[in-house]
Amino acid sequence: MPLVNQSAEPDCWKALPSWGPEPAAPPGLTWQGLMRRALRLARAGARVGEIPVGALVVGPEGEILSEAHNETEALHDPTAHAEVLALRRAAAKIGNHRLGGCVLVVTLEPCLMCTGAIRESRVSGVVFGASDARAGAVCSCLEGLDYAQTGAQPWSYGGVEAAPCADILREFFKVRR
Ligand SMILES: [Zn+2]
Repeated sequence: MPLVNQSAEPDCWKALPSWGPEPAAPPGLTWQGLMRRALRLARAGARVGEIPVGALVVGPEGEILSEAHNETEALHDPTAHAEVLALRRAAAKIGNHRLGGCVLVVTLEPCLMCTGAIRESRVSGVVFGASDARAGAVCSCLEGLDYAQTGAQPWSYGGVEAAPCADILREFFKVRR
């Protein structure tokens, strides 16, 4: 395993095209529309000084169960990534820690911690926007969703609205430098 550069390189967020068959979106919705909603969450995070990553959990009938942006700064919590917060809120909302049939939509490829949380949640799938060459753990640096385990592993589909998802991060760090 090569050592990973820990600095936020301006080119680590990639607007890669999606690949493979597009999974069916919940009725009446598109992944692109859901990603634009997650992007609005990311922008709201940026406005309060959080790294702009947005996430939501959508249920099988298209109901939005939760929404979140990163809150590591506000909560002084290194685990408060948008994905973790969205999964927690969705589970609390339905009163069940298992989110089978639901899909996590997130603007950036999840990290290793979040792929672990995604697996624990039993969501059916993950849709993400930009890829993360520095810490992405779905396909870029690791394949954190794919290790052997009994039961179904969540599917993943990346590259949805990837350019604006990468741009918002690049812009955020450019301003901060
Ligand atoms: Zn994460």
